Order: sequence, then C-alpha cells, then structure tokens
Amino acid sequence: MRGAAIIVLGPPAAGKGTQAWRLGEEFGLPRISTGDMLRDAVRDGSDLGEKARSFIEAGELVPDEVVDRLVGIRLGKPDCATGFILDGYPRTLPQAKSLSLICGDMQVAVCVVGIQAGDGVLVSRIASRWTCGSCGKVFNAVNRPADGHCDACGAELEHRLDDSVDVFRERLDVYRKQTAPLIEYYRSQGVFHEVDGEAAIDEIYGRVSAIVRKQLAGPGTAAR
Ligand code: AMP
Repeated sequence: MRGAAIIVLGPPAAGKGTQAWRLGEEFGLPRISTGDMLRDAVRDGSDLGEKARSFIEAGELVPDEVVDRLVGIRLGKPDCATGFILDGYPRTLPQAKSLSLICGDMQVAVCVVGIQAGDGVLVSRIASRWTCGSCGKVFNAVNRPADGHCDACGAELEHRLDDSVDVFRERLDVYRKQTAPLIEYYRSQGVFHEVDGEAAIDEIYGRVSAIVRKQLAGPGTAAR
C-alpha cells in the first residue's frame, strides 16, 4: 500500500468537517469534502451545480453517479497519490463500493473514523454552526471570529441553507437510512474505528488523530 484513504464518517453536525480540516493540516493530506465541492458547483452555476441544487436544498443525497464522478476526477489529481482525507463521502453503499475499487487501483489502504453523537446534540449544534463560504472551514458559537470572517482565508462566514432545523431533520433521516449501514460494511472489513463525538473538540481530535497516526505509521502507508 502506498498511502491511506482516511474516511471521516458520521451524521451531519457530528464534527466531520472540523476534524477532517485539522487532520489535513497536521498530516499534510488533501481534504476532500463532497459537500464543499457540490456547494461550489451550485455557486458557480455549472450544469453539475444545477443538478445538485434541489437535492442539497431538500436535505437529500445527490445521485451516486454524479458524486462518484466528481470524486473519481478529484482522486486522480497528483496530490491524492499517497493519500487523502474524505469528508462526507462515501454516503451510500454503492459509493463505498465505487471508492473501494478506486482505492484498490491506487493501492491506498482504507481507514474509517466514525464520529458518533446523539440526535439532541446534533440538532443543538446546528443552530450555532457557521461555515466559510469560500474554503468550507466550520465554526461554532465559541470559535467563530468576532468579525464574521474566516480565520483561514478571510471570506465571509454564512449559515448554510440546509442547516435549517427542518432540512436538518431530513438529513439525519437520510443518514440513518442510507449512510449508517456503511458502519457495518467497514466494520466487517476490520477498518472501522469509532470515536465519541460528544466530547470537547480537542479531545475528539486527540482520539481521531491517534487513529490516523497509527494508520499512517503502518507498513507502506507513511504520509508525505
Ligand atoms: P455536507 O456538507 O457533507 O453535509 O453535504 C451537504 C449536502 O451535499 C448533503 O446533504 C447532500 O445533499 C450533498 N452531498 C454531499 N456529499 C454527498 C455524497 N457523498 N453523496 C450524495 N450527496 C452528497
């Protein structure tokens, strides 16, 4: 194996984006968020964005073939050759199978970190979530810069449309039905690691990063 595909899995607002961001910074691996890529496409008004918009606004999943294609192209870029961090992908079994094929071809090992939190915690987090409209960095009531701008790239922070409580409930439902089965899929392959997502952010990161560090230190999966 020439590297690792780190998959950050979990329900919406479990903290996937925040953890994936920090992992990317610490381990020097590209962070690939399908949500960010799709929102960029919507903002750009591309054909793909037009296809994706109604699904995102309704809290539903964008069809597998659209997302698989997007990810396939992204993973073909040179910066992914020795590993990458996936945030928000895969979200369905067909996506997971498509990714397995790609990882097999690329000879990267799969390592899944599943962040778990109860619905009450997730719903309460969503109201205070702010996202950078440009680079996708996620903030909450505690770490949000007072001037309302991203501390990584300077762009304005915004509330995502699909973070409204009604759409969020739909997203949770979709997670339970379509994404949660991936836990068993990866557990049966012996590559699933569960982390309690209700702890403090730094504590969660300590556990997540320890799992990733161990994976990258394994035979043939050293980070760049
Ligand atoms: P996220 O930013 O990961 O919460 O994603 C926001 C929205 O983008 C989701 O609610 C879906 O509508 C869409 N989306 C993101 N990733 C995927 C994916 N892997 N499969 C299908 N739809 C996705």
